[in-house]
Amino acid sequence: MPGRMAWGGAAMSFDDTVADVLVVGAGPAGSHLAYLLAEQGLRVTIIDKQAFPRAKVCGGGLSRKAMDLLGFDLGPAMHRAIGGAILNYRNRDAILKEVEPMAACTVVRSEFDQLLLDRACAKGVRFLAETAFVDATEGADAVSVTTSRGLLRCRLLLAADGAASAVRNKLFGKDLVAYVPAMEATVWPAPGTLERFGDRALFDFDGMPRGYGWIFPKRDHFNVGVYSPFGGTALRQHLDRFIAAYASLQQPSRVEYQGYVIPLQNRRQLYQRGRVWLLGDAAGLAEALFGEGIYFALKSATIAAKAIAADGLRAESALYSRLLRLELLPELRAAAWMARLIYRFPKLAFSHLVLNQQINHDFAGLISGQMGYRHCLLKTALGLPRWLLPSKAPGSAADHSR
Ligand SMILES: Cc1cc2nc3c(=O)[nH]c(=O)nc-3n(C[C@H](O)[C@H](O)[C@H](O)COP(=O)(O)OP(=O)(O)OC[C@H]3O[C@@H](n4cnc5c(N)ncnc54)[C@H](O)[C@@H]3O)c2cc1C
Repeated sequence: MPGRMAWGGAAMSFDDTVADVLVVGAGPAGSHLAYLLAEQGLRVTIIDKQAFPRAKVCGGGLSRKAMDLLGFDLGPAMHRAIGGAILNYRNRDAILKEVEPMAACTVVRSEFDQLLLDRACAKGVRFLAETAFVDATEGADAVSVTTSRGLLRCRLLLAADGAASAVRNKLFGKDLVAYVPAMEATVWPAPGTLERFGDRALFDFDGMPRGYGWIFPKRDHFNVGVYSPFGGTALRQHLDRFIAAYASLQQPSRVEYQGYVIPLQNRRQLYQRGRVWLLGDAAGLAEALFGEGIYFALKSATIAAKAIAADGLRAESALYSRLLRLELLPELRAAAWMARLIYRFPKLAFSHLVLNQQINHDFAGLISGQMGYRHCLLKTALGLPRWLLPSKAPGSAADHSR
């Protein structure tokens, strides 16, 4: 028997739900894609296994290039406009890098994701909450999708269901994407601390072995985390050591720890098969240097929408993969090379690269979107012999967390 559920306020039968496009997952990739496709006049349904708003493990650092790609005012979903970066090694040698206003901002994912979903629904997208993808069978003209609440049919099944994608695991194999763990703590600090810390993001290149630690200020808390593109173990210990090094994080009123994975590589560069496409984390499209995933999830949605606008809903179109290879993958590969360069020898990289004004200016450009990863890698590699010469002691700024 088909399930019955509330949909836009009205009860309906699941059997009726034939969509042009079914998007699985209402994270940034799914909701942005749903919005763009509804704008093209397609009938779009989006399902998510969770009730919304829902929490998501994420630092909530949103780069300027992600904001530009969205192109609308985030309103109260923006917690802080980031105007500077504190670059640090083991809470010593800190430099303060002023960046252009709004090179990044911070958000809380439950609010940010709800905003993107609301925007899609306002365009006519139908959202089915607490509806999990279970399996799918592809026919000549459509895909029949089994969900936890009944059957749905669509012309294209677009999987944006995150790092542990059930669509990918079921239809593309469990080993397609390689990922690394990352861990974060939400820290509600002692009164007055956030004000003293200011609108800056802190990056510590000894936050974890062969990786970094971050402190991102939000409206009423810090998001603090550790990540390495090489993976690693004992992340909780590294995170605790990192937290212990910063005065701003001492004597908090509350701390909550959470961990998850960041998918850095699609091993077979397989992004679509017939009527099923993978996007964002489900496709393994996060970036290795900072572990940034939101921009790349949004970008994959933009590329998928572009492919559909050009080729329609044809099963044989390979345009999405072609555009990914052209517009996104070379940047992700360059980011992976930069990550190897920086984190394999973090102390050396910090003193000779991160403290180098020109290079940290270029790194800021990566976040704002003013510089591409390939360009930055080339510049860094060409300048390497010169920059590896003994450097002067850094003109260090005060440690803004003490
Ligand atoms: C600790 C940590 C910190 C991070 N910090 C940052 C950061 O500061 N900035 C940044 O840019 N990136 C960060 N990332 C990466 C970022 O969170 C992801 O890359 C981003 O969320 C990917 O978006 P997405 O839309 O592809 O997937 P997601 O945001 O994961 O959304 C997937 C959605 O699919 C739903 N879903 C899952 N399974 C099913 C199913 N079977 N059926 C239906 N729905 C399903 C989920 O409920 C979810 O809503 C961080 C990651 C981690 C682990």
